[in-house]
Amino acid sequence: MPNEVKIECPKCSWEPDGQPHWQCSCGTVWNTFDTAGRCPSCKKQWKHTCCPTDPGGCGQWSLHLDWYKNLDKWLEKEIEAVKQEVMV
Ligand SMILES: [Zn+2]
Ligand SMILES: [Zn+2]
Repeated sequence: MPNEVKIECPKCSWEPDGQPHWQCSCGTVWNTFDTAGRCPSCKKQWKHTCCPTDPGGCGQWSLHLDWYKNLDKWLEKEIEAVKQEVMV
């Protein structure tokens, strides 16, 4: 993933620390940003992600995609790159 893409809580700007702070309804505990919100065990896709309070988050739920900052810019660049490849 490009450096410009930053992951942080849209509500309080807490940044995930790579630790498994999320628990699925099936009991699996994992780092949801490793899998873009999908449980590695039961494959449930979580559209919303809770900001974990233990490591300093605010405890509020936000759309998983809203956690990714600059993703739009990155996507734009990728699309531009693809367009250019197609034209060449
Ligand atoms: Zn699960
Ligand atoms: Zn938060």
